[in-house]
Amino acid sequence: AEKERLQKVIAHAGVASRRKAEQMILDGKVKVNGEIVTELGTKVGRNDDVEVEGVPIDKEEPVYFMLYKPRGVISSVSDDKGRKVVTDFLPEVKERIFPIGRLDYDTSGLILLTNDGDFANMLMHPSHEVNKVYIAKTKGIPTPEQLKQLKKGITVDGEYLKAVHAKINSTDSRKNTAIVQVILHEGKNRQVRRMFDTLGFPVDKLKRERYGTLDLKGLNAGDYRPLKPFEVKQLR
Ligand code: URA
Repeated sequence: AEKERLQKVIAHAGVASRRKAEQMILDGKVKVNGEIVTELGTKVGRNDDVEVEGVPIDKEEPVYFMLYKPRGVISSVSDDKGRKVVTDFLPEVKERIFPIGRLDYDTSGLILLTNDGDFANMLMHPSHEVNKVYIAKTKGIPTPEQLKQLKKGITVDGEYLKAVHAKINSTDSRKNTAIVQVILHEGKNRQVRRMFDTLGFPVDKLKRERYGTLDLKGLNAGDYRPLKPFEVKQLR
């Protein structure tokens, strides 16, 4: 989650000593995200691409993790307001990992993290139809017809949003709430919440239970584990 000084990052990557790295920066031999940087104080994070004399320093082995994100955590590698971010939950991981997609601050559940940008891009591409299974607690109880509407697709703020599947798991008529399972392929901003808001059933609680073949079995909120090689393969 923390940003580090460019010369330190270069030195840690084993490219050069700290002193030598400073000189290379001053000499204009270092690029950050494709731009030459000559400021010694420049800070870089896990998501920044650093090149020294045209060679990316990021020679890390690809790593893949799943995290059971608690509520109240930002799906990001750093936060300028100092709030908790997902990478805070993987302090032992030294690779420069980042989350694949996002879960809202108030949403809990399964999120993947990796340092493999190609893998992340592939999973986030709309043509790659991964089932994402959400459990939503709604205020009010949607009718079967209304759930059908979610599967047909609804336009929210000019954006067409569609669920692959939506069904009631249980209802509490006394509290007037429902537990609804929703499956999405897309991952548009606040998609589940916006879809139910539009129907008139605000989402009180939201959790992502599954991502493709993966579920949260064995994990409590805040726990993480590496993916097994076969699990990574199944997602490709
Ligand atoms: N839909 C939402 O509304 N929020 C999420 O975090 C994910 C899907």
